Amino acid sequence: MTHPLPFGHVTLAGAGPGAVGHLTLAVARALEGADIVLHDKLVSAEVLALAGPQATLVETGKEGFGPSMAQSHIETLMVGFAQAGRNVLRLKSGDPGLFGRLGEELDALDAAGIAYTVLPGITAAAAAAASLNQSLTERGRNREFRLLTGHGADGFAEADWASLARPGTVAAIYMGKKAARFIQGRLMMHGGCPTTPVTLVENASRPEERRLSGTLADLPALAAQLDGPAVILWGLAPRAAETAEILEAAQ
Ligand code: SAH
Repeated sequence: MTHPLPFGHVTLAGAGPGAVGHLTLAVARALEGADIVLHDKLVSAEVLALAGPQATLVETGKEGFGPSMAQSHIETLMVGFAQAGRNVLRLKSGDPGLFGRLGEELDALDAAGIAYTVLPGITAAAAAAASLNQSLTERGRNREFRLLTGHGADGFAEADWASLARPGTVAAIYMGKKAARFIQGRLMMHGGCPTTPVTLVENASRPEERRLSGTLADLPALAAQLDGPAVILWGLAPRAAETAEILEAAQ
């Protein structure tokens, strides 16, 4: 006689930056079929509305490295529901593998012997660049694109500032709002030019999206205007601004 599998399954997925149109079909299907949805705070209501009627939604309150339900508690819930045979969806904003502690959660599932699937999502930087009509890499400008966090579990995050300060560098800084002055100071200390373009995209892809652009010199003042999740695009101006500069130079 065969026995049904005693354990449920966990899908760890990226919900994208907020707009439902930025959700993959695979994640939309996972939402439809999940019994339990453990979601981060940044997952939009619009996306959560796609959960099936059988689903119980649990907000873990996590916002990147910000204030949160203890990570160990999230892992206990995830493992517990799966062991009870439930189909669990662990939903993170953007892509689950970027600044989302995915590795720790996979370790917990491995330790408990629970099967899982990881589904990617559109990360905030990709949505932000699209809103600026910008390319994240461009021949002749940058062949490399960096993703970093302004904040780690233990405060402002250090980075390889000397290489970031080099002209033509493009980077997306997540969780950089509170660290803006620190980032500005570090970049300037390592020779970053104060006129380097910086664009902040808040609530990328959502109806309340805002784009603030300026230069490294303005970074703290721009960051002070933010009140939602935002990504700092270092070395990138909206395409419209660049085009205006090119046209001006051609005259
Ligand atoms: N896994 C996510 C990042 C989680 S860390 C991803 O791939 O996008 C949380 C940080 O992501 C926020 O502090 C902010 O910097 C950024 N972020 C998330 N959603 C965003 C959005 N809609 N617009 C701008 N930045 C966003």
